[in-house]
Amino acid sequence: MSFQNPVFIPGPTNIPEVIRKACDMPTIDHRSSVFGEIFAPVRENLKKVLKTTSGEIIIFPASGTGAWEASISNTLSPGDKVLAARNGMFSHRWIDMCQRHGLEVQIVETPWGEGIPANKYQEILAADKGHEIKAVLATHNETATGVRSDIGAVRAAMDAAKHPALLMVDGVSSVASMDFRMDDWGVDLAVTGSQKGFMMPAGLAICGVSQKALSHMDAAKLPRTFFDFRDMLNAYAAGGYPYTPAVGLLNGLNTSVNMLLDEGLEAVFDRHHRIAEGVRRAIAAWGLKPCAANPSLYSDTVTAVVVPEGFNGSAVATHAAEAYGMAFGVGLGEVATKVFRIGHLGSLTEAMMLSGLSVAEMSMVDLGIPVKLGSGVAAAQEYYRVGSAAMQAAAE
Ligand SMILES: *Cc1c(COP(=O)(O)O)cnc(C)c1O
Repeated sequence: MSFQNPVFIPGPTNIPEVIRKACDMPTIDHRSSVFGEIFAPVRENLKKVLKTTSGEIIIFPASGTGAWEASISNTLSPGDKVLAARNGMFSHRWIDMCQRHGLEVQIVETPWGEGIPANKYQEILAADKGHEIKAVLATHNETATGVRSDIGAVRAAMDAAKHPALLMVDGVSSVASMDFRMDDWGVDLAVTGSQKGFMMPAGLAICGVSQKALSHMDAAKLPRTFFDFRDMLNAYAAGGYPYTPAVGLLNGLNTSVNMLLDEGLEAVFDRHHRIAEGVRRAIAAWGLKPCAANPSLYSDTVTAVVVPEGFNGSAVATHAAEAYGMAFGVGLGEVATKVFRIGHLGSLTEAMMLSGLSVAEMSMVDLGIPVKLGSGVAAAQEYYRVGSAAMQAAAE
């Protein structure tokens, strides 16, 4: 595997040089004021990224999965009921975690490739007159299928049912790449990690926590120690951590959020949208389809490409890695053999994306998948090129 090529997996993503350098720093005393100089701006700036003014930011040395665990264990008690849709590998894994914590999960089975059925959520919540459901889980961007669900619609469903459950949203593969509105959507627990939109190595679990979620902490009976929000907030108030923080990663995250805010969040989202749209045009030119069932669900961070019947999607990713030293995502779970995934998030340009599309084409042709070399690249070039009709239309 070449270290020179960009990766096109949907996380971890390519790390910009300035962020790598920021992560690589000498040891400091994490109980000194120097630590506060790194940490205080990270928390303030993360609020801007999550679009919250009233929420708290809590960061654990863990991967995104740790932020899932912190969200449920700080707000729920054994036997509590939660509502979740299963429409891919990541929503499945969150459900599995809830079950292993002794929560009762009401699962809305949803075809992989579809989004969260907000109307079904509304029916279930409206029928839950006794408010037994304590939390509603939503995976904003299902990374296994390349499906972005409408979190505003989930909130509207909860409001229409006048249901007081907490809204927990997995934004691991959406935050910092696609619009995420913690306050507008009334998200109580926003969960993300460092290695996707933040262009960082894995190692930081980020939770945005609403005041309502904080008010559930003392009553929540699920056990937690490492992930206890209360220890974290007490330590933050004193300018530190309840244990040793990952200082280098936090320094890198500081650089990352500054880069995102300097580029401008809306510009970051536009860049992701344009790169993703080029990928979608390439897929159409190949005569193939995304796993996402319709355009309203298309993710701007990852596309799962459905290969023709008789071919193995994951083999495309394996072959690209072995033959060309370039990383794409294999298929996961129910769609393991049906798709390969193109990650298009984080530190990427259109020119980098063209290199990824060209290798995807070569890999498919090598495996006998009937696509024409250059066809997808040409379609993306036509969309990306300066002054193209597509660009002019977008500007109007
Ligand atoms: C990557 C991902 C996770 C898991 O995060 P880890 O950092 O690997 O623990 C959870 N949810 C979604 C949607 C993801 O894409």
